[in-house]
Amino acid sequence: MSAFNEEKVLSVHHWTDKLFTFKTTRDASLRFSNGHFTMIGLRVNDKPLLRAYSIVSANYEDHLEFLSIKVPDGPLTSRLQHIKVGDTIVVGRKPTGTLLIDYLLPGKRLFLLSTGTGLAPFMSIVRDPATYERFEQIILVHGVRQKDELAYHELLVEHLPAHELIGDMVKSQLRYYPTVTREPYMHMGRITDLIETGKIFADLDMPALNPVEDRVMICGSPGMLRDLKTMLEATGFKEGNTSRPGDFVIERAFAEQ
Ligand SMILES: Cc1cc2nc3c(=O)[nH]c(=O)nc-3n(C[C@H](O)[C@H](O)[C@H](O)COP(=O)(O)OP(=O)(O)OC[C@H]3O[C@@H](n4cnc5c(N)ncnc54)[C@H](O)[C@@H]3O)c2cc1C
Repeated sequence: MSAFNEEKVLSVHHWTDKLFTFKTTRDASLRFSNGHFTMIGLRVNDKPLLRAYSIVSANYEDHLEFLSIKVPDGPLTSRLQHIKVGDTIVVGRKPTGTLLIDYLLPGKRLFLLSTGTGLAPFMSIVRDPATYERFEQIILVHGVRQKDELAYHELLVEHLPAHELIGDMVKSQLRYYPTVTREPYMHMGRITDLIETGKIFADLDMPALNPVEDRVMICGSPGMLRDLKTMLEATGFKEGNTSRPGDFVIERAFAEQ
Protein backbone atom coordinates (compact mmCIF):
# COMPACT_ATOMS: atom_id res chain seq x y z
CA MET A 1 0.00 0.00 0.00
CA SER A 2 1.31 3.49 -0.85
CA ALA A 3 2.46 5.76 2.00
CA PHE A 4 0.24 8.49 0.53
CA ASN A 5 -3.36 9.16 -0.37
CA GLU A 6 -4.41 11.42 -3.19
CA GLU A 7 -7.07 13.92 -2.09
CA LYS A 8 -9.11 16.46 -4.02
CA VAL A 9 -9.15 20.13 -3.07
CA LEU A 10 -12.66 21.13 -1.93
CA SER A 11 -12.09 24.82 -1.19
CA VAL A 12 -9.33 27.42 -0.92
CA HIS A 13 -9.35 30.66 1.09
CA HIS A 14 -6.60 33.29 0.92
CA TRP A 15 -6.32 35.27 4.18
CA THR A 16 -3.49 37.53 2.96
CA ASP A 17 -0.80 37.51 0.27
CA LYS A 18 1.27 35.33 2.65
CA LEU A 19 -1.32 33.01 4.18
CA PHE A 20 -4.03 30.66 2.89
CA THR A 21 -6.18 27.72 3.94
CA PHE A 22 -7.55 24.81 1.98
CA LYS A 23 -9.86 21.87 2.55
CA THR A 24 -9.54 18.48 0.88
CA THR A 25 -11.39 15.19 0.78
CA ARG A 26 -10.30 12.68 3.46
CA ASP A 27 -9.67 9.00 2.81
CA ALA A 28 -11.87 7.08 5.25
CA SER A 29 -8.86 5.01 6.38
CA LEU A 30 -6.79 8.04 7.51
CA ARG A 31 -6.57 8.09 11.32
CA PHE A 32 -5.00 10.88 13.37
CA SER A 33 -5.10 12.49 16.79
CA ASN A 34 -5.98 16.16 17.19
CA GLY A 35 -2.67 18.07 17.20
CA HIS A 36 -0.91 15.76 14.72
CA PHE A 37 0.94 16.82 11.58
CA THR A 38 1.49 14.84 8.40
CA MET A 39 3.45 15.14 5.16
CA ILE A 40 1.51 16.77 2.34
CA GLY A 41 2.38 18.12 -1.06
CA LEU A 42 2.13 18.01 -4.82
CA ARG A 43 3.42 15.74 -7.56
CA VAL A 44 6.12 17.62 -9.45
CA ASN A 45 7.62 15.87 -12.49
CA ASP A 46 5.89 12.72 -11.27
CA LYS A 47 7.66 12.81 -7.88
CA PRO A 48 5.98 13.86 -4.63
CA LEU A 49 7.27 17.22 -3.25
CA LEU A 50 6.32 17.05 0.42
CA ARG A 51 6.46 19.15 3.57
CA ALA A 52 5.21 18.69 7.15
CA TYR A 53 1.78 20.28 7.81
CA SER A 54 -0.32 20.33 10.97
CA ILE A 55 -3.90 19.22 10.49
CA VAL A 56 -6.34 22.06 11.23
CA SER A 57 -9.54 20.00 10.98
CA ALA A 58 -10.67 17.83 13.90
CA ASN A 59 -10.32 14.06 13.62
CA TYR A 60 -14.11 13.54 13.61
CA GLU A 61 -14.61 15.66 10.47
CA ASP A 62 -14.95 14.04 7.07
CA HIS A 63 -12.64 16.47 5.29
CA LEU A 64 -9.05 17.63 5.96
CA GLU A 65 -8.01 21.25 6.37
CA PHE A 66 -4.58 22.91 6.32
CA LEU A 67 -3.30 26.44 6.98
CA SER A 68 -0.33 27.40 4.82
CA ILE A 69 2.30 30.07 4.52
CA LYS A 70 3.29 31.29 1.03
CA VAL A 71 7.08 31.40 0.78
CA PRO A 72 7.83 33.22 -2.50
CA ASP A 73 10.75 30.95 -3.46
CA GLY A 74 9.64 27.97 -1.38
CA PRO A 75 9.82 24.75 -3.40
CA LEU A 76 6.36 23.62 -2.27
CA THR A 77 4.41 26.74 -1.32
CA SER A 78 5.39 28.75 -4.44
CA ARG A 79 3.29 26.09 -6.23
CA LEU A 80 0.78 25.12 -3.53
CA GLN A 81 -0.51 28.70 -3.22
CA HIS A 82 -2.00 28.36 -6.74
CA ILE A 83 -4.12 25.25 -6.06
CA LYS A 84 -7.76 25.33 -7.11
CA VAL A 85 -10.89 23.37 -6.31
CA GLY A 86 -10.63 19.93 -7.95
CA ASP A 87 -6.79 19.78 -7.91
CA THR A 88 -5.05 16.78 -6.35
CA ILE A 89 -2.96 16.96 -3.14
CA VAL A 90 -0.77 14.16 -1.81
CA VAL A 91 -1.40 13.41 1.89
CA GLY A 92 0.81 11.14 4.03
CA ARG A 93 -0.93 8.22 5.71
CA LYS A 94 1.11 8.39 8.93
CA PRO A 95 0.27 11.54 10.93
CA THR A 96 2.48 12.03 13.99
CA GLY A 97 3.68 14.69 16.48
CA THR A 98 4.07 15.73 20.11
CA LEU A 99 1.20 18.25 20.51
CA LEU A 100 -1.23 15.75 21.99
CA ILE A 101 -3.11 16.21 25.26
CA ASP A 102 -2.05 12.63 26.07
CA TYR A 103 1.56 13.80 26.36
CA LEU A 104 0.64 16.24 29.14
CA LEU A 105 0.18 15.46 32.84
CA PRO A 106 -3.25 16.27 34.31
CA GLY A 107 -3.73 19.98 35.03
CA LYS A 108 -6.32 22.70 35.54
CA ARG A 109 -5.57 25.14 32.71
CA LEU A 110 -4.21 24.37 29.24
CA PHE A 111 -2.30 27.20 27.50
CA LEU A 112 -1.96 26.83 23.73
CA LEU A 113 0.75 29.31 22.67
CA SER A 114 1.18 29.89 18.93
CA THR A 115 2.65 32.29 16.42
CA GLY A 116 1.81 32.44 12.69
CA THR A 117 0.88 29.07 11.20
CA GLY A 118 1.64 27.55 14.62
CA LEU A 119 -2.07 28.08 15.27
CA ALA A 120 -2.86 25.14 12.94
CA PRO A 121 -2.56 22.16 15.34
CA PHE A 122 -4.44 24.08 18.05
CA MET A 123 -7.45 24.51 15.77
CA SER A 124 -8.03 20.76 15.94
CA ILE A 125 -7.28 20.64 19.68
CA VAL A 126 -9.86 23.34 20.50
CA ARG A 127 -12.46 21.39 18.49
CA ASP A 128 -11.83 18.18 20.43
CA PRO A 129 -14.38 17.46 23.21
CA ALA A 130 -11.65 15.50 25.06
CA THR A 131 -9.67 18.74 25.55
CA TYR A 132 -12.59 20.24 27.50
CA GLU A 133 -13.08 17.06 29.52
CA ARG A 134 -9.38 16.99 30.49
CA PHE A 135 -8.93 20.71 31.39
CA GLU A 136 -11.16 23.25 33.16
CA GLN A 137 -9.93 26.14 31.02
CA ILE A 138 -8.23 26.36 27.65
CA ILE A 139 -6.39 29.57 26.72
CA LEU A 140 -5.58 29.88 23.03
CA VAL A 141 -2.95 32.55 22.34
CA HIS A 142 -2.16 33.52 18.74
CA GLY A 143 0.62 35.99 17.99
CA VAL A 144 0.97 37.61 14.56
CA ARG A 145 2.50 40.74 13.05
CA GLN A 146 -0.61 42.21 11.44
CA LYS A 147 -4.25 41.74 12.40
CA ASP A 148 -5.26 40.35 9.00
CA GLU A 149 -2.96 37.40 9.78
CA LEU A 150 -5.31 36.36 12.59
CA ALA A 151 -6.58 33.35 10.65
CA TYR A 152 -9.78 31.71 11.97
CA HIS A 153 -10.56 34.74 14.14
CA GLU A 154 -14.23 34.70 13.13
CA LEU A 155 -14.51 30.95 13.55
CA LEU A 156 -13.09 31.21 17.06
CA VAL A 157 -15.15 34.21 18.12
CA GLU A 158 -18.47 33.50 16.40
CA HIS A 159 -18.86 29.99 15.00
CA LEU A 160 -17.20 27.74 17.58
CA PRO A 161 -19.31 29.06 20.50
CA ALA A 162 -22.37 28.15 18.40
CA HIS A 163 -21.03 24.70 17.35
CA GLU A 164 -23.61 21.98 17.91
CA LEU A 165 -21.17 19.47 19.43
CA ILE A 166 -18.79 21.63 21.49
CA GLY A 167 -20.41 25.10 21.56
CA ASP A 168 -21.37 24.99 25.25
CA MET A 169 -17.88 23.84 26.30
CA VAL A 170 -16.28 26.53 24.13
CA LYS A 171 -18.47 29.25 25.65
CA SER A 172 -17.64 28.32 29.22
CA GLN A 173 -14.06 27.01 28.95
CA LEU A 174 -12.20 28.52 25.97
CA ARG A 175 -10.43 31.91 26.20
CA TYR A 176 -9.01 33.25 22.93
CA TYR A 177 -6.20 35.82 23.15
CA PRO A 178 -5.04 37.17 19.77
CA THR A 179 -2.04 39.49 19.91
CA VAL A 180 -0.47 41.67 17.22
CA THR A 181 3.08 43.10 17.17
CA ARG A 182 3.21 45.60 14.28
CA GLU A 183 -0.01 47.62 14.35
CA PRO A 184 -2.49 48.82 16.95
CA TYR A 185 -4.83 46.11 18.24
CA MET A 186 -6.83 45.15 21.31
CA HIS A 187 -3.88 43.01 22.57
CA MET A 188 -0.37 43.93 21.49
CA GLY A 189 3.11 42.50 21.93
CA ARG A 190 5.13 39.30 21.72
CA ILE A 191 3.91 36.32 23.71
CA THR A 192 7.19 36.09 25.66
CA ASP A 193 6.88 39.75 26.73
CA LEU A 194 3.20 39.38 27.64
CA ILE A 195 4.09 36.44 29.90
CA GLU A 196 7.19 38.04 31.39
CA THR A 197 5.42 41.29 32.26
CA GLY A 198 2.31 39.46 33.49
CA LYS A 199 0.12 41.53 31.12
CA ILE A 200 -1.59 38.50 29.61
CA PHE A 201 -2.57 37.13 33.05
CA ALA A 202 -3.88 40.53 34.16
CA ASP A 203 -5.95 40.76 30.95
CA LEU A 204 -7.32 37.24 31.43
CA ASP A 205 -7.74 37.69 35.20
CA MET A 206 -5.75 34.53 35.88
CA PRO A 207 -2.76 33.67 38.04
CA ALA A 208 0.68 33.62 36.36
CA LEU A 209 1.82 30.33 34.81
CA ASN A 210 2.73 27.72 37.42
CA PRO A 211 3.66 24.06 36.96
CA VAL A 212 1.24 22.85 39.64
CA GLU A 213 -1.92 23.89 37.80
CA ASP A 214 -0.94 24.80 34.25
CA ARG A 215 -0.04 22.76 31.19
CA VAL A 216 1.35 24.34 28.03
CA MET A 217 1.61 23.48 24.35
CA ILE A 218 3.82 25.64 22.12
CA CYS A 219 3.92 25.84 18.33
CA GLY A 220 5.77 28.60 16.50
CA SER A 221 9.07 29.72 15.04
CA PRO A 222 12.27 28.04 16.28
CA GLY A 223 13.19 31.27 18.14
CA MET A 224 9.83 31.53 19.88
CA LEU A 225 10.05 27.88 20.98
CA ARG A 226 13.54 28.38 22.36
CA ASP A 227 12.56 31.49 24.37
CA LEU A 228 9.37 29.99 25.80
CA LYS A 229 11.04 26.67 26.67
CA THR A 230 13.76 28.56 28.60
CA MET A 231 11.13 30.64 30.41
CA LEU A 232 9.01 27.64 31.36
CA GLU A 233 11.96 25.53 32.53
CA ALA A 234 13.15 28.45 34.69
CA THR A 235 9.79 28.34 36.51
CA GLY A 236 9.92 24.57 37.06
CA PHE A 237 7.97 23.19 34.07
CA LYS A 238 9.20 19.83 32.72
CA GLU A 239 8.98 19.02 29.02
CA GLY A 240 6.93 16.00 27.94
CA ASN A 241 7.31 13.85 24.85
CA THR A 242 5.70 10.89 23.08
CA SER A 243 7.07 8.43 25.65
CA ARG A 244 6.79 10.46 28.88
CA PRO A 245 4.08 13.04 29.65
CA GLY A 246 5.19 16.37 31.10
CA ASP A 247 4.04 19.90 31.97
CA PHE A 248 4.61 21.24 28.45
CA VAL A 249 5.14 20.00 24.89
CA ILE A 250 6.50 21.80 21.85
CA GLU A 251 6.49 21.50 18.06
CA ARG A 252 8.19 23.64 15.44
CA ALA A 253 5.77 25.42 13.10
CA PHE A 254 8.57 25.30 10.52
CA ALA A 255 12.28 24.52 10.27
CA GLU A 256 14.92 27.24 9.84
CA GLN A 257 17.20 26.94 6.82
C1 LIG B 1 6.24 19.75 12.38
C2 LIG B 1 6.03 20.80 11.32
C3 LIG B 1 4.73 21.23 11.04
C4 LIG B 1 4.50 22.22 10.07
N1 LIG B 1 3.21 22.66 9.84
C5 LIG B 1 3.02 23.67 8.95
C6 LIG B 1 1.70 24.19 8.73
O1 LIG B 1 0.71 23.74 9.33
N2 LIG B 1 1.56 25.21 7.84
C7 LIG B 1 2.64 25.73 7.14
O2 LIG B 1 2.45 26.65 6.35
N3 LIG B 1 3.86 25.24 7.33
C8 LIG B 1 4.08 24.22 8.19
N4 LIG B 1 5.34 23.72 8.36
C9 LIG B 1 6.41 24.22 7.46
C10 LIG B 1 6.32 23.43 6.14
O3 LIG B 1 6.78 22.10 6.38
C11 LIG B 1 7.14 24.08 5.00
O4 LIG B 1 8.38 24.51 5.45
C12 LIG B 1 6.39 25.24 4.37
O5 LIG B 1 5.20 24.76 3.78
C13 LIG B 1 7.20 25.93 3.26
O6 LIG B 1 7.53 24.97 2.28
P1 LIG B 1 8.38 25.39 1.02
O7 LIG B 1 8.85 24.13 0.33
O8 LIG B 1 7.61 26.36 0.20
O9 LIG B 1 9.64 26.15 1.64
P2 LIG B 1 10.76 25.58 2.63
O10 LIG B 1 12.03 25.37 1.85
O11 LIG B 1 10.23 24.38 3.38
O12 LIG B 1 10.91 26.77 3.66
C14 LIG B 1 11.63 27.94 3.29
C15 LIG B 1 11.74 28.89 4.48
O13 LIG B 1 10.49 29.51 4.68
C16 LIG B 1 10.26 29.79 6.04
N5 LIG B 1 9.01 29.10 6.45
C17 LIG B 1 8.62 27.82 6.12
N6 LIG B 1 7.43 27.54 6.67
C18 LIG B 1 7.04 28.64 7.35
C19 LIG B 1 5.89 28.96 8.12
N7 LIG B 1 4.90 28.07 8.29
N8 LIG B 1 5.81 30.17 8.68
C20 LIG B 1 6.82 31.09 8.50
N9 LIG B 1 7.94 30.86 7.78
C21 LIG B 1 8.04 29.64 7.21
C22 LIG B 1 11.47 29.25 6.78
O14 LIG B 1 12.40 30.29 7.00
C23 LIG B 1 12.04 28.24 5.83
O15 LIG B 1 13.42 28.05 6.03
C24 LIG B 1 5.60 22.75 9.34
C25 LIG B 1 6.90 22.29 9.60
C26 LIG B 1 7.13 21.35 10.60
C27 LIG B 1 8.54 20.92 10.88
